[in-house]
Amino acid sequence: MNFESYSDRGVLTAVALVNALTPGEAGGRPLALPAVGAERTALAEQAEARVTGRRPRLDPAVVEGLCRLAAQLRRVFEAAVRGDEDAAARRLNALLREYRAAPQLSHHGGQRWHLHFHSPGAGHAVGQAVSCATALAAIVGSHGAGRLGVCAAEHCDRVYVDTSRNGSRRFCGPACLNRTKMAVFRARQVGAGGRAGPPRGGG
Ligand SMILES: [Zn+2]
Repeated sequence: MNFESYSDRGVLTAVALVNALTPGEAGGRPLALPAVGAERTALAEQAEARVTGRRPRLDPAVVEGLCRLAAQLRRVFEAAVRGDEDAAARRLNALLREYRAAPQLSHHGGQRWHLHFHSPGAGHAVGQAVSCATALAAIVGSHGAGRLGVCAAEHCDRVYVDTSRNGSRRFCGPACLNRTKMAVFRARQVGAGGRAGPPRGGG
C-alpha cells in the first residue's frame, strides 16, 4: 500500500522521531534518552537524516521541541495499539490545534505548487510537528488507527506504520520479526524434542 505521497515524509519522520527520542526498549535492549544535550542532538539529527538523507544541524531548543513532540506522537501510537481509535484521533486533533496546522499551497523557489502544512514563519520543530500530525491524521482518517503499531516482540516498544496490503505487520523491523520466530522455534523444540528444522527468514 502506498499512503498519500504528500504525507509519506511526515509518516517516516514521525516514526523516526518516536523511535529515536522516546525511552523504552528497542530490539530486546533497554533504551534511554540521554540526559546530555550533545547526545540528544546527535540522536535527533540522525533521526532526521534517516528520512531526508541529509543530516541537519539542530540547536538545543529545537532538539527539546522534537523530544517533546516524539513523546506526544508516541501516545498516539499507544492509543492506536490499545484499540482506542477515539483517543488516537483526539490526540492528533489536539496536536493539529496546538501546532496550528495551516495547509497552504506554495510555489517558492521556482517549484510547482505544492502543499505545506504549517505557516511560513513556523520554526523547525513546529514544522515537523505539523507535518507528522497531519500525516498520521491522514492515515487514521483514510485507513484507520490500526495502521499505527508498536512492536509486538518481547522487550521492544519501537513504533511503525503498517503499509502492508492486508495490514498484517506486527514488528518494528526484520530483526524483531526474526528474534520472535527464533524464540517460538526454540520453545517448540523444547516441547517436541528438537525434531523440527529452524525457522526461515522473511517478512
Ligand atoms: Zn521491535
